Amino acid sequence: MTTPTTTLELKPSAHPLSDTERERILANPGFGRYFTDNMVTVKWTEGRGWHDAELVPYAPLSLDPANMTLHYAQTIFEGLKAYRQVDGSVATFRPEENARRFQRSARRMAMPELPVETFVAAVDALIAQDRAWVPGVGEESLYIRPFMFATEVGVGVRPANEFLFMVIASPAGAYFAGGVKPVSVWLSEEYVRAAPGGTGEAKAGGNYAASLIAQAEATKHGCDQVVWLDATERRWIEEMGTNNLFFVYGDKLMTPELTGTLLAGITRDSVLSIAADLGYEVTEGRLTVDDWRTGNADGTLTEVFACGTAAVVTPVGTVHSARGGWTVADGRPGEVTMKVRKALLEVQSGAVPDAHGWRHTVA
Ligand SMILES: *Cc1c(COP(=O)(O)O)cnc(C)c1O
Repeated sequence: MTTPTTTLELKPSAHPLSDTERERILANPGFGRYFTDNMVTVKWTEGRGWHDAELVPYAPLSLDPANMTLHYAQTIFEGLKAYRQVDGSVATFRPEENARRFQRSARRMAMPELPVETFVAAVDALIAQDRAWVPGVGEESLYIRPFMFATEVGVGVRPANEFLFMVIASPAGAYFAGGVKPVSVWLSEEYVRAAPGGTGEAKAGGNYAASLIAQAEATKHGCDQVVWLDATERRWIEEMGTNNLFFVYGDKLMTPELTGTLLAGITRDSVLSIAADLGYEVTEGRLTVDDWRTGNADGTLTEVFACGTAAVVTPVGTVHSARGGWTVADGRPGEVTMKVRKALLEVQSGAVPDAHGWRHTVA
């Protein structure tokens, strides 16, 4: 048995939003615009370790201008969702996997590792306290954002000796409110997301800052999302925005293997299992832009979809690049894509038995 490193003290807001106000927000939450009544904070200090774990009212932080995060970006995050279950309870999906990835991100960024059980307990405490914020219907959810950043004051370039771990939560509407719509993608040949030996495997803030210009370029070319290629040859497909990709060849599914420059999505890992459960053959491999183009032209490549916590499963409809583009199959959401999507949503919402032990009941 593991002993919790620190016990969480509950000091929730004495003035939560009124039921009417909260209901008004939940009627149209969008994504990442509103936050619940409370938050969790846990401190880490060199020599002392993790301490002062508390659930407190959601409030702004006061930062010294020389806070090291503002200068050198020692900051990492996670993203997971709490889903209202068909029986009315609330559950998260594989939260220990988020906790373990958070530890890997911390190691890469020379930050302290938070014990898995402290991570999960912090997330659970916030969801339980703010459970009225978990939407009740369909594909809506409460998005949970755990994160950690340096709090030491100073401008010397070295790992900080003080950090703050926090959890905040934000209600999220259905990603595809008007029905699933395939996205258009831009192949980023100029900018790369991650290079061998770099930080691509970590959910580290700086990766996302560096990605914004490529996303802006995709938008400028009329595309919804950017597709990342490898840094060395600029021809191997890595991922799409903050989603992993799957390529469907009839009843065979292929996803780019984890080379160290891809983010190891928990949805990606879940889709590998779910697709196998559905009877598809699944492999992890490598695929170039030319493979994508020719597979599409000769009809062997039948569907392409992206997956991640925020949008679940998203069909890819068209591909654009500086050297032209093409429509993926008939450009409509494919049958395999929609089957995988439905199966994943059913496990997340408690509509089917939990064959893999992925659901974590919170409240
Ligand atoms: C978070 C993220 C993903 C998806 O990970 P999930 O665990 O499935 O949500 C994929 N790619 C990038 C770059 C990401 O940041």
